[in-house]
Amino acid sequence: MKAGKDKVIAFHYTLSVDSEKVESSHEGGQPLWILLGHGQLIPGLEKALEEHGAGDTLQVEIAPVDGYGERQEDQVQRVPKKYFQQAKHLKPGMVTVLALKQGGQRAVTVQKVGMSTIDVDLNHPMAGKTLNFDVAIEEVREATEEEIQHGHAHPPGAEAH
Ligand SMILES: [Zn+2]
Repeated sequence: MKAGKDKVIAFHYTLSVDSEKVESSHEGGQPLWILLGHGQLIPGLEKALEEHGAGDTLQVEIAPVDGYGERQEDQVQRVPKKYFQQAKHLKPGMVTVLALKQGGQRAVTVQKVGMSTIDVDLNHPMAGKTLNFDVAIEEVREATEEEIQHGHAHPPGAEAH
């Protein structure tokens, strides 16, 4: 079976940026289970997986535009320290989570720590980066109706929810 919309795919991957490993599914041992066609993956990776099947390995280079987007310089903001949970431990370059006014939270990168404020970069840490994925596909199958309703894959052994 070939990967495509409304198929569930299981694959291992290693992500590298500038020849340095960033993360790998091999560390956790379990492959990543993804429902394709539902925005679970960055567009470039989703496209690269299409038409591939179990046993295929691929090397994919993804430009920022098909990954986490280009960096936007106007996405740096000065935020009062009280909005951070661990303000006194933060240093430039660290990624932390900031609660948003409109609800929810997002990962931000600390740029500068002042007396009462912290400058944070709201760009995704991978924005502006060319991503290199080494992918090994383990399985491709039809999604169940339940998976399509939920908008995500249900790995084997997952709890009902
Ligand atoms: Zn579900």
